[in-house]
Amino acid sequence: MTVQSVLDEIRKRPGTGEVIPVIDPVTEEQITEFTDCGSEAVDTAVARAKASFESGAWQGLTGSAKAKVMWRIADLIDQNADVLAELESLNAGIPTNQAQTIVSVGSEWFRYYAGWCTKVDGISHDVNAGGLTGVDSHMHAYTRKEPYSVVGLIFPWNGPVFNYCAKLAPALAAGCSSVVKPAEETPLSALVLDRILAEAGVPDGVVNLLTGYGHTAGAAITAHPDVDKVAFTGSTEVGREIARASAGSNLKKLTLELGGKSPVLIFDDADLDMAIMMAGFGTFVHSGQACVCGSRILVQRSVYERVVEGIAQLADNLKLGGPKEEGSMIGPLISAKQLSRVMGYIDQGNSDGVEVVTGGHRLDRTGYFVHPTVLTNVDPATSKLYQEEIFGPVVTILPFDDEDQAVAMANDSTYGLAATVWTRDLARSHRLAKRLQAGTVSLNCQLVFDHSMPFGGYKQSGWGYESGKAGIDTYLQTKTVWAQL
Ligand code: NAD
Repeated sequence: MTVQSVLDEIRKRPGTGEVIPVIDPVTEEQITEFTDCGSEAVDTAVARAKASFESGAWQGLTGSAKAKVMWRIADLIDQNADVLAELESLNAGIPTNQAQTIVSVGSEWFRYYAGWCTKVDGISHDVNAGGLTGVDSHMHAYTRKEPYSVVGLIFPWNGPVFNYCAKLAPALAAGCSSVVKPAEETPLSALVLDRILAEAGVPDGVVNLLTGYGHTAGAAITAHPDVDKVAFTGSTEVGREIARASAGSNLKKLTLELGGKSPVLIFDDADLDMAIMMAGFGTFVHSGQACVCGSRILVQRSVYERVVEGIAQLADNLKLGGPKEEGSMIGPLISAKQLSRVMGYIDQGNSDGVEVVTGGHRLDRTGYFVHPTVLTNVDPATSKLYQEEIFGPVVTILPFDDEDQAVAMANDSTYGLAATVWTRDLARSHRLAKRLQAGTVSLNCQLVFDHSMPFGGYKQSGWGYESGKAGIDTYLQTKTVWAQL
C-alpha cells in the first residue's frame, strides 16, 4: 500500500454518520476524510467477531499455529515500515526517525506475544477437599486460561501504530476476537495494519476495524452486550465514561491506561547534566503528548536555579518542525483542539501569576506548534496546570528541601502513572522506588520501555496492565475445574 492509496481507501469506507476530516497538524490542511461508521457498523463488527470466535477459526488453532501468524504479521509490519512511518508522520506530525522507531517497536509487540501463544497455561493440584459437603475427598483440581470472546480495543491519537500493536498482539495471542477503534484524528495507519493481518493469515472476522468518533463508535463498543472486555488507552475522563458504560451494560471487564502527571525528582547529588538533558527531553518529546512525559519537575533547592536554567536552555534549543523539515526533533500538537487546550492552561497560569521562564506561546508559523514551556512559581495547592494533565510541551519546576518533602510533593496527585528519580545515592533511589505512588518508577533513566515489563497506572492513571505476562493475562479468564478421583 502507498500513502496515497490509504488516503483514497479511507474515503470509501462505509459509514452512516458525519464526515470526519483528517488534518495534517503541520500544514493544518485536510489530507483526506472519512465517514463516521456509526453504531450499526459496531453491531455488525461485534457479530462478526463473535461468529469468528465461535467458529474456532482463530482461538481453536494451536498455540504454535497462532505464533506463526503472529511472526508473519511482525515481518509484514517491517516490510511496510516505510509507509507506516510516513503515515504516522503525516497524520500525527511525528519526526520521521521517531516514527520509524515506533513502527519497529510495533512489530516487536507481535514477536514478543508470538512467544506467549504456546505458553497459555493453568495450574494443577491434587487436593483433599471436603468443602461444603463435609466429606473429605481426594480431588484433582486444575485451572484453564480461556480467552474473552470479543474484546473492544480503543486507543488515542498519540501513537497510533504503537497503541494498535500493544493491544492487538496480546489479544490475538490469547485467542480473542476483536473490534478495533483508533482515534478519529489518526485512523490512517490502522488501514495498513488491517491489510497486513489479512495477508498474514488472520481469519476473516477475527479483527474488525471501526473508524469513527469516540462518542458514537467508541461508546457503542463500550455499551455493547456482546463485548466481554474493553482495553482502552486514553484520558481519565473518557476512562470514567467507559467504566460507567460497563456498569450500565454487561459489566464487561476493563483495562484502562489513562492519563498522568508524572513527577521527575532531581537531587543535588545527581549527574546534573544527564538529569537536565533527560528530564527536558522526557518532558518535551512528541510535544509532551506521551503519557509518561514528565510534567512536574521537582528539584533539590541547592541546585534548583541551575536545573531551571538548564531545562529552559534545552527547551529553547529543541528544533520544532514538520517531519520533512531538516533537523526537526519535535513535532506539533495533534489538533487545533489540543492547541487551544494547551494554550488555555498557559493563559490560566499567566493570570494566576506563574513565572514563564521560557515559551508560553504558539510558534509564529503554520502548524499547531507550541514553544516548549517552562513555568515556575506555581502554587501546587491551587494551580490547575500543576494538578491536571495538559498533554502538551509544558512543565512546572518547583524546589524541595529534603527527601520526605520530595516524596510528599510527588505523591500529591490524583494520577500515578510514572515517576523518575535522579540521584547518585543508590539506597535513596531504591527507597524512593518503594515510596513513590506510580506504576512505573525510573531510576537515573527516562523513557525506557520493553515489551516484557508490565506497564500500568496507580490511582486514577488506570486499571490493569499492558506488556509482559501481565499483558496477555488481561485477555484471559481463569476457570477452576474440580474432578473427583
Ligand atoms: P481520549 O480519551 O479523548 O480518546 C481516546 C480514544 O477514546 C479515542 O479513540 C476516542 O475516539 C475514544 N473515545 C472518546 N470518547 C469515548 C467514549 N465516550 N466511549 C468510548 N470511546 C471514546 O484521549 P486522547 O485525547 O485521544 O489521548 C490523550 C489521552 O490519552 C491522554 O490523557 C493520555 O495521558 C492518554 N494516554 C495514556 C496512555 C497510557 O498508557 N496510560 C498512553 C497514551 C495516551
